[in-house]
Amino acid sequence: MIYLDSNATTPLDPRVLAAMLPWFSEKFGNAASRPHRFGAEARDAVDAARAEAARVIGADPEEIVWTSGATESDNLALKGVAAAAEGRKHLVTVATEHRAVLDPCERLEGSGFQLSVLGVARDGSLRLDQLERVITDRTLLVSVMHANNETGVLHPLEDIGKLCRAKGAYFHTDATQSYGKEPIDVTSAGIDLLSASAHKFCGPKGVGLLYIRKRGPRVRCEQLLHGGGQERGYRSGTLNVPGIVGFGAAAAICMKERGEEQRRIRDLRDRLERALRSGLDGVETNGTPERRLAGTTNLAFEGIDADELMAQLPELALSSSAACTSARMQPSYVLGAMGHSDERIRGSLRMSIGRFTTEEEISTAALALTGEIRRQRNTPRS
Ligand SMILES: *Cc1c(COP(=O)(O)O)cnc(C)c1O
Repeated sequence: MIYLDSNATTPLDPRVLAAMLPWFSEKFGNAASRPHRFGAEARDAVDAARAEAARVIGADPEEIVWTSGATESDNLALKGVAAAAEGRKHLVTVATEHRAVLDPCERLEGSGFQLSVLGVARDGSLRLDQLERVITDRTLLVSVMHANNETGVLHPLEDIGKLCRAKGAYFHTDATQSYGKEPIDVTSAGIDLLSASAHKFCGPKGVGLLYIRKRGPRVRCEQLLHGGGQERGYRSGTLNVPGIVGFGAAAAICMKERGEEQRRIRDLRDRLERALRSGLDGVETNGTPERRLAGTTNLAFEGIDADELMAQLPELALSSSAACTSARMQPSYVLGAMGHSDERIRGSLRMSIGRFTTEEEISTAALALTGEIRRQRNTPRS
């Protein structure tokens, strides 16, 4: 099996697992239990992870709220800010956002908020002049992801942050795909809220964070979970200590190694694209080839059905654009928003490369894909 689906999830780095293990067994304390050593050591471990997690985005550790993953972080950012709103009743987002952003936005629209969903250009990029026009002094929050999960296309955080600041709107970014991979500085980019999830950068599943700006401005955000008042009241519930330790360990590895790692991953991605393009005609890139994540490629193969292709290549773990929202099985709305035809979307495959992908795997995958695509093109469809 060759795993080329790192944007869906990544394997746990063995070093992260090693850091987590004691927190499943002898170190079982509740980080909120103050008086004894069990609680104190858990709290210290959570605080150390919080400091590591904050460092990745240039935040203060006190601005980090632990969650169960990016879906919860996105929900907390959008619904929490909406619940605390006084006066402003307008939300802005983009058609290519993850469902964890679009669905809460649509729910809020149903409960009295005005929602603007911006389109994108054919290369997946956001039209900043459109964004500027749609933000008004009634806009509460603008939510634009950093990197798109299907195409890897990166949006310019600093430019978006400036437009939000100028109108006094909060800026939330779903940075789940870029956190730990691309440089992010919440202050220079004017970010007020940011979502991330450990399992996208070789950490464990079920743990994420929401960065909530504390000053300049202080973000007003209501909790979704009421209870013990953990996480400064933003998120009640006993902390997932092993998961949080894993998040911190995974973040620390990214900070230490990402320069070299991202270069290596980009090189593998470029090799894969070169091999497929030189072996095949009718290959188009979905999304701008310039400003995108190092490990992501989304290619359209003319005359091919990506699901059929994947069925014939069970040894490759890939993602067709329909599988991305597999609970729904419909052609990718992300590629649709970029103006691509259903035919092109059906022939599109996302391949995402990660820490453990090898050069040999890339050559093997390219060879298998080229062979199978040639075969399917030579076989008339029944
Ligand atoms: C994976 C992903 C999510 C969901 O993250 P979970 O931690 O699995 O809930 C949200 N947004 C983006 C952009 C993602 O890639």
